[in-house]
Amino acid sequence: MPATILRLALPSPLRRLFDYLPPAESQGISWQPGMRLRVPFGRREIIGILIEVSSHSEVPTDKLKPALALLDAQSPMPPALFKLCLWTAQYYQHSLGDTLNWALPILLRQGEPAEVRQQRFWQIAPDAQLDDPRLSRAPRQRDALKILAQHPHGVPHQLLSKLQLNKDSLDLLLEKGLVSCESRQQAAAPRHSNWLAQPELPLNPEQQVAVTAIQSAPEHFTAFLLAGVTGSGKTEVYLQLIRQCLEAGKQALVLIPEINLGPQTLARFEQRFNARIALVHSAVNDRERLDAWLTARDGEADIIIGTRSALFTPMKSPGLIIIDEEHDASYKQQEGLRYHARDLALVRARQENIPIILGSATPSLESLHNAYAGRYALLRLTQRAGGAQQPRFLRLDVKSLPLDSGISGPMQQAIKQTLAAGQQVLVFLNRRGFAPTLLCHDCGWISQCPRCDARMTVHQRSGELRCHHCGYSERSPRNCPDCGKVDLRPVGAGTERAQERLEILFPQTPVLRIDRDSTSRKGAMDQLFTTIQRGEPCILVGTQMLAKGHHFPRVTLVAILDADGGLFSADFRASERMAQLIVQVAGRAGRAEEPGRVIIQSHLADHPLLVQLTEQGYFAFAEQALSERRSTGLPPFSHLALLRAEAHKPGQAEDFLDQACGEAEYLLGELNLGGIELLGPIPAPMERRAGRYRAQLLLQANARAPLHRLLSAMLPALEQMPSGRAVRWSLDIDPIDLF
Ligand code: ADP
Ligand code: ZN
Ligand code: ZN
Repeated sequence: MPATILRLALPSPLRRLFDYLPPAESQGISWQPGMRLRVPFGRREIIGILIEVSSHSEVPTDKLKPALALLDAQSPMPPALFKLCLWTAQYYQHSLGDTLNWALPILLRQGEPAEVRQQRFWQIAPDAQLDDPRLSRAPRQRDALKILAQHPHGVPHQLLSKLQLNKDSLDLLLEKGLVSCESRQQAAAPRHSNWLAQPELPLNPEQQVAVTAIQSAPEHFTAFLLAGVTGSGKTEVYLQLIRQCLEAGKQALVLIPEINLGPQTLARFEQRFNARIALVHSAVNDRERLDAWLTARDGEADIIIGTRSALFTPMKSPGLIIIDEEHDASYKQQEGLRYHARDLALVRARQENIPIILGSATPSLESLHNAYAGRYALLRLTQRAGGAQQPRFLRLDVKSLPLDSGISGPMQQAIKQTLAAGQQVLVFLNRRGFAPTLLCHDCGWISQCPRCDARMTVHQRSGELRCHHCGYSERSPRNCPDCGKVDLRPVGAGTERAQERLEILFPQTPVLRIDRDSTSRKGAMDQLFTTIQRGEPCILVGTQMLAKGHHFPRVTLVAILDADGGLFSADFRASERMAQLIVQVAGRAGRAEEPGRVIIQSHLADHPLLVQLTEQGYFAFAEQALSERRSTGLPPFSHLALLRAEAHKPGQAEDFLDQACGEAEYLLGELNLGGIELLGPIPAPMERRAGRYRAQLLLQANARAPLHRLLSAMLPALEQMPSGRAVRWSLDIDPIDLF
């Protein structure tokens, strides 16, 4: 009889499967890929996922260990999800075990049963009397019994405190046999027949064209790029398409960027539909995440809304995928499995054969390129819905102007004018803290981070210097650490400093700061928004947190203090990011009756990209930027993979990458591959970070296939390299930043 060898993916970075024998007493089991098994691994026990069954192993049979237990009667993962994970591991050249680890809810990886949670219910016993004599001296138990009597189907355990039911009283009632407590599965709410909880808005002509176009392709894969200016009613288009999807008996998956998780976005979906919505994002706890995953898998959730990782939520009958703000960088995971949720969503839509919509006011150059090349259908919304006008742009050349905490004289005038007209101002500065550097005016000492090649930011409120790259912080010194003098001065301006200065310039006006520091307290953001919504004149100072999704009807001036970073950065994507940020921030202005104005301070006010953007809009900018990318051979006109390495000692990371580069050169010849350039190894742009020395090797290719062939051949060799032991290395396919 041939042996049964189970080949498992284990949570390990190694790009291989691990062979085990079936557990004892497993005759007659029909093995399915995706089943979970508990297995011995070294001295530990871990959970592996069955990938395939084989009759043969490289390892001699007497060396193979049996698995300890099978955890599933059938695979918890539907085949479509399994296939997506296989594709992901292969495309990102990542260990399959670790890929599954990222894709599955944590409780499943820990061995939790793949069933919707059993809930404990407290229920009054059928023959219990409210005037039971045993309760005559126990008023609290009597009250508790009365409350339970009002809930004949029982009260879930977690609602006890909400209903003011005391657990001790219930336990005493249980002893007397007056109540029962049992676990049962929460019955799924039935699917609604009337989906709309709220009437739909009549679509304007552009929205109607978009809806009709997408509607006409409901049963098969088509990708749509919905490029609609901010406030053009993209969300209304999504909502009406989702309604049609629900009516067809299908489920919709909606991905949103991390930062958009505000209650505003979710509320719009919840208010519109009588639908069972599953939420999958970072604020959801592990149990809720598993429940959302299971209800989506079993067709008991109609709409799945979440951030990046929600892409891996299984669906029983998928009908539509929507990626809102498709250009957003939070769709790319920057650690471990470095996947791009938008790119994978396209793969998924193709595998499931359903339409996918990428929506944005500022589409990524990749997506625009795909649209121009005819791979996506381009749908444009050029007008703001509800009649509001587009804001006007003004470049303010500050080359010879003094900056007062980052704010020039003409900018102060414009702010003053807007406030005097009873309106609100948004001041945008993508740098938190008080000042990016502290400098000794006497000896030139600067606040260098001891662990990074970077300067520490002055945070005046907390009296600290903080490194924004590694999180290191220390008390801000009073005297210079080098020369002991007391002439330490903050250089440059961050949001704290701009706020402080604006409070002095406009003493009658509230100045609210919105950045990661000011909103870290729970509820702080909501409180700020309530103040803003009241509509009285005020100044909001904030970072890119301000750019996303919010609606500030009374803001009519957007003051952008510094756009230059995006124009001289070494990162080839910096200008694209800057343009997106400017347009998104500008989109917060004048969303109601009053038209808005956007003033951009720059030392490079005549820079062609900035001129294009402000005079002709994002599409003109994007076309210009794309033609630059074409002439320099950068993505999307080439494909990149970045091999990063870091180590405690200088030189180690580069030694490893030198060897990797040698291996790559050898393989290029051996496999006869062309059109691939090896750039590096070079030290990373910030060589030392968090105490480690970093280097990188960039691979740039004209075509994807040869690049992937090279990498698949190269990685097993890298895993074997002795110089790899001393370094931490990782591969980033389609990196979005080169740092
Ligand atoms: P986007 O998602 O493109 O930024 P929204 O969907 O948030 O735009 O729409 C902006 C505003 O316009 C919202 O207040 C929305 O209710 C309103 N709106 C959208 N579509 C219409 C329409 N067809 N008629 C009237 N108002 C609309
Ligand atoms: Zn000094
Ligand atoms: Zn640091």
